[in-house]
Amino acid sequence: MAVTRTFSIIKPDATRRNITGAVTKMLEEAGLRVVASKRIHMTRDQAEGFYAVHSERPFYNDLCAFMTSGPVVVQVLEGDNAVQRNRDVMGATNPADAAEGTIRKAFAESIEANSVHGSDSDENAKIEIDFFFSQSEIVG
Ligand code: ADP
Ligand code: MG
Repeated sequence: MAVTRTFSIIKPDATRRNITGAVTKMLEEAGLRVVASKRIHMTRDQAEGFYAVHSERPFYNDLCAFMTSGPVVVQVLEGDNAVQRNRDVMGATNPADAAEGTIRKAFAESIEANSVHGSDSDENAKIEIDFFFSQSEIVG
């Protein structure tokens, strides 16, 4: 299987509870390697741009408010089939539906405050990585 990259965010509910290490440990144990990482406080413009695909959804405003409510950790993850591997360890969007052993089952507070973001396709992974990282910040 091909080694690929995906984009991850450890969300404000997780930074607030000081569990960025615990989340990252689960990513690493799932076979993903952190090849770029930085802690940032997203601006409203960044959040709105990043989630533009959801701009017509009823939860869009609340989501942008949540994502700017505290620091986040943005990461580039590398591994075999990284996008799907990350989605598998993240678990379902709603923690009530998330399987045992997933990050959202272990840590998510709600369908909104669900601890992690992960790209949903290779194409979006590239767009999302480029949104937050320059090539020189990614060290594989
Ligand atoms: P995922 O993060 O699993 O790819 P989506 O792309 O559908 O899920 O949604 C993006 C984010 O928007 C979710 O991770 C979650 O934080 C928030 N969200 C999704 N659905 C809802 C909802 N019904 N109510 C509130 N927030 C939601
Ligand atoms: Mg999504």
